[in-house]
Amino acid sequence: MERHTYDVVVIGAGGAGLRAAIAAHESGARTAIVCKSLLGKAHTVMAEGGIAAAMGNRWPEDNWEVHFRDTMRGGKMLNNWRMAQLHAQEAPERVQELEDWGALFDRTDDGLISQRDFGGHKYARLAHVGDRTGLEMIRTLQQRAVALGIDVFMECTVTDLFKDGDAIAGAFAYWRESGRFIVFDAPSVILATGGIGKSFKVTSNSWEYTGDGHALAMRAGASLINMEFVQFHPTGMVWPPSVKGLLVTESVRGDGGILKNSEGKRFMFDYIPEFFKAETADTVEEADAWYDDKKNNRRPPELLPRDEVARAINSEIKAGRGTPHGGIYLDIASRRTPEFIRKRLPSMYHQFKELADVDITAEPMEIGPTCHYVMGGVEVDADTQESAVTGLYAVGECSGGMHGSNRLGGNSLGDLLVFGKRAGEHASSYADSLGDRRPRVDEADVKAAQTSALAPFEVEGGENPYTIQSDLQQSMNDLVGIIRTRSELEESLSEIEAFKVRAQTMVVEGHRQYNPGWHLALDLRNMLIVSECIAKAALAREESRGGHTRDDFPGPDDEWGTKNLVVNLNEAGTGVDLHEKPLPEMPEELKGYFA
Ligand code: FAD
Repeated sequence: MERHTYDVVVIGAGGAGLRAAIAAHESGARTAIVCKSLLGKAHTVMAEGGIAAAMGNRWPEDNWEVHFRDTMRGGKMLNNWRMAQLHAQEAPERVQELEDWGALFDRTDDGLISQRDFGGHKYARLAHVGDRTGLEMIRTLQQRAVALGIDVFMECTVTDLFKDGDAIAGAFAYWRESGRFIVFDAPSVILATGGIGKSFKVTSNSWEYTGDGHALAMRAGASLINMEFVQFHPTGMVWPPSVKGLLVTESVRGDGGILKNSEGKRFMFDYIPEFFKAETADTVEEADAWYDDKKNNRRPPELLPRDEVARAINSEIKAGRGTPHGGIYLDIASRRTPEFIRKRLPSMYHQFKELADVDITAEPMEIGPTCHYVMGGVEVDADTQESAVTGLYAVGECSGGMHGSNRLGGNSLGDLLVFGKRAGEHASSYADSLGDRRPRVDEADVKAAQTSALAPFEVEGGENPYTIQSDLQQSMNDLVGIIRTRSELEESLSEIEAFKVRAQTMVVEGHRQYNPGWHLALDLRNMLIVSECIAKAALAREESRGGHTRDDFPGPDDEWGTKNLVVNLNEAGTGVDLHEKPLPEMPEELKGYFA
């Protein structure tokens, strides 16, 4: 068995993992990056809109305080205030640093980094590169990581973490191609594994996003927070079926696109919630005037936070005012010139032309909500990103707290950079502090990890993992989707119990060399844990807030607004325990921003 020793092992090579690895390496740690797919193939690369950072390039009035306020209000005040504060304060410096490392952002007329409008942000704040910001971010970070000589293990999946007492001692992985195993001895492990979207049928997420980091953390004894909050992006493609769920960037609305139902009505004016009334235009005239004069007009309702827009679209479709393929129209063709659309939204233009044979400069797109992002994740210390397990850190989408009940667009890319740097530095300094008192990997644990990974080959006559995955995805979509009720959530939990039983006897054919069925069988264990966390927390939270909407509890509840839900693996390791936890107290000077 292959074996490697490092100070810091980073699991995941998206923006969070790469930034963390760079920071760990620059702090002097021997660092490795392990990633499930090819280097450069992570969700970060798909991020289109931009990086939210209050640089004030378009609006000198913008500053970290306004960004902090927007983030907290977008998350309906359930965010970890300290994370939201650090993020707002440090994001501009992290964007500037990316530019210093070679990222080429779009510019304003006077040569500054350009910033665009996005839902929930008071000012144009997203630093961007057309609609390919994530690609530029990954290119820059990757180039730097490679230039620094950081070791990369790609197409290598981590399936277990090792502990020595209460502290992390390393990780266990397999090469996807050969199926051979690897042990990493390392006192610091940073989870940067991204999201969980593959637990749902309609999703913008790709195959890797099976909640591995979430589940690895839980199995190691860490807790997850905010798991009931799943973001359904309002605009995913609905047609053709092969690409259902694929993201249509929010920039389409930021650049003038509007939402219309089958009757041609611009319906978002009917869905402006009380909470956002003061800052949202309530006439078509004011909304349209905002694009040219942002000082004297309020924002169009199409740019409300994602949860509000997704719910409105869902209601229109349910009311029978949807498109032929079960979506809603997103129209930029009638509002902007073809040249403008092709320049500002090149990827969207090509995406629709190639996949749906729709020319978005000439006709509207058909779109509908798609599972996009999980606000919930590993509960971490705001300053260091360390979990409850010594030496185990989590960063990026697989960590929780920063976004509360709803993430604002653009705040994820900022989050990766700000907390990636922090996690890398702290993981490195912890490893350094250990001297020769490093935790050791127990050989019995290595054997157990190996036996568990090979278990699906030992079963005879069981079910194919693809069938179980497909049933789980359908069930999560139908019962734990955008609108939830007690009876459906209870039904989902009993279905998950049944999937768990079926998964115990799932069978894998063939051998260990490149065997996607086996890989899925291992991923499915994680998807089941994560799905249970989501359904259990969603059942417990009897209110509607952010990414969690209960048909039977339609409004927010003040009492629920004071607490988070935290989940752990139960003692037997067979299911999920849940408890309530009060929100951390916000200092008085910050409370002032919400008076
Ligand atoms: P990812 O970039 O998702 O990377 C995760 C890494 O972990 C991958 O390398 C994967 O291979 C690896 N991994 C997973 N499991 C394992 C395992 N078991 N072993 C080893 N490796 C593993 N956010 C914004 O702020 N602005 C935007 O404009 C924006 N647009 C988006 C568009 C799309 C289509 C999508 C899907 C998301 C978008 N987001 C956007 C969200 C944002 O891109 C993601 O939340 C963010 O990139 C997540 O970054 P990450 O580093 O946490 O994880």
